[in-house]
Amino acid sequence: MTPPDWTLLLDPPPFPALGYRQIADRLAGLFGTKADIVFVQAEAVVALEAVAASLARPGLPVLNIVTSPYGVMVGGWLRRAGAEVIELTAAPAAPIEVEAVAAALDRHPRTALLALVHAESASGILNPLPEILALARPRGIVTVVDAVASAGGHALDIDALGIDVAVIGPQKALGGPAGLSAISVSERAWALAERPDAPTGSILSLRDLKQGWLDTGRGPLPGMPAPLEWHALAAALDRIERGGLTSVIARHALAAVATRRAVQRLGLKLWPERGAPSNLVTAAVLPAGMDRAALLAALPVEVEITACIGPGTERLIRLNHTGPRAAPAAVARGIEALGVELRGAGLPADIEAALAGLAPHA
Ligand SMILES: *Cc1c(COP(=O)(O)O)cnc(C)c1O
Repeated sequence: MTPPDWTLLLDPPPFPALGYRQIADRLAGLFGTKADIVFVQAEAVVALEAVAASLARPGLPVLNIVTSPYGVMVGGWLRRAGAEVIELTAAPAAPIEVEAVAAALDRHPRTALLALVHAESASGILNPLPEILALARPRGIVTVVDAVASAGGHALDIDALGIDVAVIGPQKALGGPAGLSAISVSERAWALAERPDAPTGSILSLRDLKQGWLDTGRGPLPGMPAPLEWHALAAALDRIERGGLTSVIARHALAAVATRRAVQRLGLKLWPERGAPSNLVTAAVLPAGMDRAALLAALPVEVEITACIGPGTERLIRLNHTGPRAAPAAVARGIEALGVELRGAGLPADIEAALAGLAPHA
């Protein structure tokens, strides 16, 4: 195969000055929000850090739900900004249970901010987001949702759900570039981020983003935006809008259902044991005694099957079906390659049955 002509990436035209506003409005439309959309021109973990650094202040009572290393990081940034963070950690590699959140909120009635990840690509779990937000709303709690992985893979109607801050990364289920992130910020969240002692003069300052772009009429972005990233994001949104976000989500749901069925036919147990799986990656448990590192290292490079990340995932592997990988051919390639390695390791994996089961309604 001839490699692509990468010189096409050189000397890109500037991104139009009014294009940023259009991208904000398109994202707001796709994710059902009338709240402000601001951009962090960096990968999504930087946007998460900006949210934590900007909303937290000394003494702010926070409930931080931890279901992956991302939640641990957010907790650290909130504490660094002086917040009083209560950490509610789920069972290892499992979704949080709604009852545990309700009990924690009852124990900590002063909670002013609640943070959680929607769907985890690290362990393949889906947290019960609507139910948790329904607990937060009547209590007047500002909610921060890491939707980096879930946006495009699961329904995410920001205003209908009552999310105050959603962090969106284009590079996962949306199939866009990794160097830009978007944040929706409600009025209630601005009240936290715009206080007089909020951080300013910093890449992590939401207040700077508001004053430098929203309040000046959403024209050119301050600084030197990277045109390639913006053109790529515009193209990703074009592709999504062509078929509609609903069909992108449905494509992920189909890939997840097909992968889960096939993995079972290969003889592996699905993860999580309890609670919901995400549509982004399928996690499976390797039999005791099987060498995970050797198995993964033997897979062809084009197949994205990797080790799960975080506590409790030592025997788990994940089959990635996010973004461009949420497609029948990519799913089949992964199942076949995994089947071959499992057989090689002595498991009687039924590759034919697994592949036959990939067809819808098989
Ligand atoms: C991928 C991901 C992030 C951050 O992504 P980076 O590309 O590493 O910046 C944050 N949260 C979740 C849940 C993710 O899956």
